[in-house]
Amino acid sequence: MHKDLDYVMFDQETISRRVEEMGRMLTEEYAGKSPVLLCIMKGSLVFTADLMRHLDLPCTLESITLSSYRDMATRPGAIEVASPVNLDLTGRDVIILEDILDTGKTLSFTLNLLKLQNPASMKLVVLLDKPSRREAPVEADLVGFTIPDAFVVGYGLDYDQKYRNLPCIGVLKPSVYS
Ligand code: 5GP
Repeated sequence: MHKDLDYVMFDQETISRRVEEMGRMLTEEYAGKSPVLLCIMKGSLVFTADLMRHLDLPCTLESITLSSYRDMATRPGAIEVASPVNLDLTGRDVIILEDILDTGKTLSFTLNLLKLQNPASMKLVVLLDKPSRREAPVEADLVGFTIPDAFVVGYGLDYDQKYRNLPCIGVLKPSVYS
């Protein structure tokens, strides 16, 4: 275990098994279609990379960069579009891939932005869901794991841009924040 972690919430094997299962579910659901995977950077990069390799579909890949957590803060700030949406999703079946659904503010903003593009369908797939923190009325169509109110890092998720490369998902020691 990484020295800065207090505990591991999901180990590499558990994540891998669940992501594979999610891939199988999406493959069945989108049979005969060519969905576009929309990776919300940077947190969903690792999840997207693993999930897409379990999709037996002719899919394409796009990304959008947004941020709601600035600098070192672990509480959400204003959402900003760091890279503009210049995608053409008109008539496409869009699968939005997000690392974590927390207050829902980021995804509520993103979904409204994407709807303007008139996709044929939109499905929200999140690796982690923290339902107890929800402030905006957003629900995912497919969730990897439902978790309690804890700030997690690893498997793409960061604290101060670090720990994204940890293969597991865990909670940092309180001393890391001080
Ligand atoms: P929301 O808008 O739902 O509150 O926040 C979504 C974004 O906040 C996520 O995409 C993620 O970047 C960040 N976030 C929310 N909870 C956590 C967490 O527990 N750990 C990390 N590293 N980021 C989080």
